[in-house]
Amino acid sequence: MLGRKEGKVIELTRRQEIILDIVKSQGPVTGEQIAEQLQLTRAAIRADLAVLTMSGVLAARPRVGYYYVGNSVQSLFASRVRKIKVDEIKSVPIVVKDSSSVYESIVTMFLEDVGTLFVVNDKGMLVGVASRKDFLKVALGKSDIHQMPIGVIMTRMPNLITTTPEESIYEAARKIIEHQVDSLPVVKLAEPVDPKGKEEWEICGRITKTNLTKLLVELAEEK
Ligand code: ADP
Repeated sequence: MLGRKEGKVIELTRRQEIILDIVKSQGPVTGEQIAEQLQLTRAAIRADLAVLTMSGVLAARPRVGYYYVGNSVQSLFASRVRKIKVDEIKSVPIVVKDSSSVYESIVTMFLEDVGTLFVVNDKGMLVGVASRKDFLKVALGKSDIHQMPIGVIMTRMPNLITTTPEESIYEAARKIIEHQVDSLPVVKLAEPVDPKGKEEWEICGRITKTNLTKLLVELAEEK
């Protein structure tokens, strides 16, 4: 268990951890009561209580006793972030058809000022993702970018890393880090045309590193 003092993490001793557990479960509880449970004198635990109060883990009120405050600011921030849904910060996805040429797709990337394109089939269902590196790879070869369809170079289903509108932005951000990608398509399961057919996904947004950075700035500026 770690406490914090002026931003610095401090390590608690075993005895301090036990005191913390007592206060967490029984607080408010007096120093005398804590000492009694540990079969120690009040004086023996004075230093431990001082460490715990000074590091902001416990607070004390005269004649009431010690109570747990934890790293309340930090845990508030964590729970706030985990409650924000992808739907609240997603942006509009830039989409091209899988039959579009690599050349047309590059033009779209410049016009829309994005680093990633999402690729859909004739029915508008998500089939792939193409990013800058995919286009650079083509540039290294001898293919005719006017003839080659984007469907040939994209990363395709089922290898896509996706998120959903209901997912927490914390989970989405973790996926971006874990899979080392710049963005995730936000998808919804499409109504099946053929109930026995395979699952198809509609794209309804995108989450990018930019979305997440903007959110971080907003949260930091929150009063
Ligand atoms: P960049 O090409 O600018 O480095 P990325 O790091 O996002 O951008 O992409 C690297 C590779 O990962 C590319 O081949 C791309 O097709 C693929 N990729 C990008 N986003 C996803 C995703 N959400 N799921 C699966 N693959 C992706």
